[in-house]
Amino acid sequence: MDVKKITHQKLSLLLADFQICRNCRVVDRDQGRIRYGHKCGTCETPGEGGLMYFEVSILVLIDLMQEAFHTPGGYRQGRDRSIREAHNVSVVLFFCSLREILLNWLIEHLCWAQKIPRPVYERLFADSNTYALRQNNLLPSLTGKKWKVLAAQESRSSKLDYIELDEFMRKTVDARNKFMHEGKRWGIDRTLAEGCIDHIWPLLNFYVALHNRYVHPLHFAKSKP
Ligand SMILES: [Zn+2]
Repeated sequence: MDVKKITHQKLSLLLADFQICRNCRVVDRDQGRIRYGHKCGTCETPGEGGLMYFEVSILVLIDLMQEAFHTPGGYRQGRDRSIREAHNVSVVLFFCSLREILLNWLIEHLCWAQKIPRPVYERLFADSNTYALRQNNLLPSLTGKKWKVLAAQESRSSKLDYIELDEFMRKTVDARNKFMHEGKRWGIDRTLAEGCIDHIWPLLNFYVALHNRYVHPLHFAKSKP
């Protein structure tokens, strides 16, 4: 399935439809969870209706990326080059925001699972006030592993290549920074915008994998009688 061709269905509904068990907090795509009484495949507790894992801002960003990507000026050849490029810039900026919100979302769940008191969690967040600090300091302190090790570890147990995802994200952020801080737009083109759309799926799956490895087991252990 080429998600770049999908225009009549919201990409968020297609790609980010992960559900979370209210009991053991495993995240999966079992849509049966939306039915009351449906048993969780992991902890076997009857559910009380579906609960989307990703917060609304994540879904909104995915739909904004899709909308910008398919806005007519975004791919029309010739006439208005600046409009075409502007839409590519929007896709890239939204993708970079998506990666930041996903990291924050995971850190929030990690702190909750580890029973870190709210004021402490807020101070940790305030102290690590950039994406780089959160990725390279805060996340390793909560998981015990560095970012690159996490990417390699999850790649080994998935068909998706999270090392390639990490490389793509770095290239994208570099292009974003050159645009934001130096006004250089040449690094952002249609190919990069296409790459952003293609990488939504591995990006979401990477964070679900980290959640299931570092957040879910803590809740699961607690949920056992
Ligand atoms: Zn469960």
